Amino acid sequence: MIVGTRKSLAELQEMLSGYKKILLSGCDTCVAECASGGRREVAELAAALQLASQLAGKEVEFKESSVDRQCIHEFLLDVVDAAQGYDAVLSLACGAGVQALAAKLDQTPVFPALNTLFIGETAERGLWLENCRGCGDCQLGYTGGICPISRCAKRLLNGPCGGASHGLCEINLAREYDPPVPCAWEQICARLQILGVLERIFAVKPSMDWSKADAGGPRRVVRPDQKL
Ligand code: SF4
Ligand code: SF4
Repeated sequence: MIVGTRKSLAELQEMLSGYKKILLSGCDTCVAECASGGRREVAELAAALQLASQLAGKEVEFKESSVDRQCIHEFLLDVVDAAQGYDAVLSLACGAGVQALAAKLDQTPVFPALNTLFIGETAERGLWLENCRGCGDCQLGYTGGICPISRCAKRLLNGPCGGASHGLCEINLAREYDPPVPCAWEQICARLQILGVLERIFAVKPSMDWSKADAGGPRRVVRPDQKL
């Protein structure tokens, strides 16, 4: 899923200053799972913005709305309807959802309420971990299901850098992580050993083709049988 965190109230107030009728639009899938942009967070944010406006002596109307997936055009039609008569929309979706909505609302400004961070997993209640950067050339089949691109600080493909200490990545020396960041390659080696295929790491992997990742510009996928 896509993981994001909410911008500060001060930044949102700055973005929205001057608008009198604002629609808040949540997304009830990824960003609801990471507790930043679902309908519950829409309600909390609407209440906080309303209170802040009142304290500042401004009359602003906030309306709450939410759809299952703001990145899918069929779902957006409800938001487009809800936005009629509003000066601005504050979207609590990920960056993809904000852009999909902005493309449908060409006369109304759409602002992001979140900072979109990464593709990740819910590791436990209240903890989300980055584990995929959408590199376009998945290595998990060689690395025991542990991603060397998102979980190794140097994105190494051919084993550890030698900087790890007691199972921890050397980036822990640069600043304090809580909890400390493990060395992904030590985890990969341990996993391959358990699977009985540790010798796999001696096969030298060629350089990554980063043009398949975001270095190649905006990517698109078209189904082979699809006529556009
Ligand atoms: S190797 Fe690439 S596609 Fe596979 S999990 Fe890592 S970043 Fe994602
Ligand atoms: S210590 Fe491990 S995880 Fe950190 S950069 Fe080196 S190989 Fe990658």
